[in-house]
Amino acid sequence: MEFSQYDIDSLLSITNRPELVFTEGRGMWMTDHRGKRYLDYLQGWAVNCLGHSPQCMLDALAEQAKKIINPSPAFYNEPSIRLASMLTANSCFDRVFFANSGAEANEGAIKLARKWGQKNRNSKGEARYEIITFDHSFHGRTLATMSASGKPGWDTIFAPQVPGFPKADLNDLASVEKLVTDRTVAVMLEPIQGEGGVIPATREFMQSLREFTKKRGLLLIVDEVQTGMGRTGELFAYQLSGIEPDIMTLGKGIGAGVPLAALLCREPFAVFEPGDQGGTYNGNPLMTAVGATVLETLLAPGFLAQVQESGRYLSAALLKLVAKHGLKGERGEGLLRALELGREIGPQIVERARALEPCGLLLNSPRPDLLRFMPALNVTHDEIDQMIAMLSDVIASFD
Ligand SMILES: *Cc1c(COP(=O)(O)O)cnc(C)c1O
Repeated sequence: MEFSQYDIDSLLSITNRPELVFTEGRGMWMTDHRGKRYLDYLQGWAVNCLGHSPQCMLDALAEQAKKIINPSPAFYNEPSIRLASMLTANSCFDRVFFANSGAEANEGAIKLARKWGQKNRNSKGEARYEIITFDHSFHGRTLATMSASGKPGWDTIFAPQVPGFPKADLNDLASVEKLVTDRTVAVMLEPIQGEGGVIPATREFMQSLREFTKKRGLLLIVDEVQTGMGRTGELFAYQLSGIEPDIMTLGKGIGAGVPLAALLCREPFAVFEPGDQGGTYNGNPLMTAVGATVLETLLAPGFLAQVQESGRYLSAALLKLVAKHGLKGERGEGLLRALELGREIGPQIVERARALEPCGLLLNSPRPDLLRFMPALNVTHDEIDQMIAMLSDVIASFD
């Protein structure tokens, strides 16, 4: 089929897409409407943590679909109970609420923190609701999560903002301290800013932030929608800094491609009362059955060690590219990595890599001077070598 035969004008235009319609995906590869194949280093934006359509996911979907798809969140269902138990057994959290997207999980976290701030008032008896977030952070596309995000321009795009999200600078505790008022209830951050360009919060910052929030009676919320579920080589990125947050959100990798997200909290902060939180599809067994099989795969002996090893391999391969082409550097944790180009050719590299023949390469440039890599967590050395060879050719074309 020709691209022109698709009636794309029926779709509400929200972004500029290349004139490609993807029809198949398997592992690290996708195929378009013409049958051209692409090595996929986006994986649905760090979502397909086991690659496209892994067998365990197909089995979980088929088996669960035959049993029950939607009993309603007003009733218990087995896969959601099983997944919640696995999550609490393997984290510092005691309670889980399932949602359908990262933004929705973060909305839940914001609501939970505000609710806790109503129960734990300031010395004047006023409810606390302000949540300190960070410049260049990304928390989602609902009105509240856009307001929480520190993306340039997002403060005015759908004005007025939801109030109560002052912005501090990452890795600068003094900038957080300065923003604390008697209305502050929480600090919320990504352990590694993903959309911001793979910018890690330092171990030292995470530890001093934990200490500071505890001392001042503030909640510490980690948005692990991108960093969670093995992406950094630990099951959750907060484990990298040896701290225990109060609230965490998950998305992306937890569903490995199906819409699933989660809000987790420790027992003292589980303050929702009946009616406070809900949603038609929340915790539905079809999605949570997939989440359970994904988590089982990540917890299998050796899996996360392999992610760490692949992360080191990718990092070393990127450093060779840096040396070969005189680029600036490389950074990241596990399989969330960025290549610093030293000049603003990221978007052109993305275009040229996609246009490579006979096979294309799908990359992401969150900033013009940066490429981000978010392969499947079970990516092979061969698939890394192949990507590096393709990328090297593309970068050489700029010399
Ligand atoms: C992608 C992302 C979100 C939003 O998740 P959606 O599923 O797109 O709503 C929130 N926070 C972080 C850190 C993300 O990377």
